[in-house]
Amino acid sequence: MRVLISVDMEGATGVCHPDHLMPGGQDYEAARRWLTGDVNAAIRGAKAAGATDVLVADGHGTMRNIILEQLDPLARLLTGPAQVRNRPLCQLGALEHGVYDAAFMIGHHTRAGTPGGLLAHTWVGRLVHEIRLNGKPASESWLNAAILGHYGVPVVTASGADEYGRQMREDFGDGFVFAEVKQTLGPTAIVTLSLETAQARIEEAAREGLAKGGEPLVVEKPVVLELELHTDAMRAQALELGGEPVGRLGLRFTADDMVAAAEQLWRALAHTLREDAAFLK
Ligand SMILES: [Zn+2]
Repeated sequence: MRVLISVDMEGATGVCHPDHLMPGGQDYEAARRWLTGDVNAAIRGAKAAGATDVLVADGHGTMRNIILEQLDPLARLLTGPAQVRNRPLCQLGALEHGVYDAAFMIGHHTRAGTPGGLLAHTWVGRLVHEIRLNGKPASESWLNAAILGHYGVPVVTASGADEYGRQMREDFGDGFVFAEVKQTLGPTAIVTLSLETAQARIEEAAREGLAKGGEPLVVEKPVVLELELHTDAMRAQALELGGEPVGRLGLRFTADDMVAAAEQLWRALAHTLREDAAFLK
């Protein structure tokens, strides 16, 4: 059994503040260890359920957060910035999705605009007001699940904060197993479990999710992705590469399938970031 783990950092055990999220921030190095611990717990659970191959896709910021020397030896690591030429699908990268049996979302978070959401955003907080997939406001987990669904891969396990779990339940129903590792008090405050307790929960959720299995997310075609930005200038720049203007600050991409639509969306966002996006270098 082959498992892909899509990793973000905002939902990792203990993480609650922008300082945890970028190199140079206070406690970033500690947060990397917490994140790597969560990922290793998911890998242990996957092994217990019979996984023989695990690809971990580091999908946060610089996408170089996971500490390689601490990573479980079963896993391979997809790492490196989400320049369009490298990772046209942003968090997942484009490798071998066809061969995975199941996916986990570890350390993900709620979508942009979630009231009181912990570090809530969708792909690029300072640009994106909302992303809609076929008219429905989409979290990063929903976008990634739709990309994975294109390749027939179901999301069976997720971990993160309580409100992320609730949003996942609204989006996905009961078709996955959730490990709650912290409670959200507000955008930058949590009550977190200890690393040991959280990791035990993640390990169990990973094992259970694979044992239970799930259905891939299949979205209707053609796929319509709408991107709503914060300002006119951002929209003008995003439109330089195509897309159709909608509303005052939005643009729309229509494509035959989810992968093609997501590639257009990420190309537009990366292009709009090009001036000062240190994390894409
Ligand atoms: Zn992130």
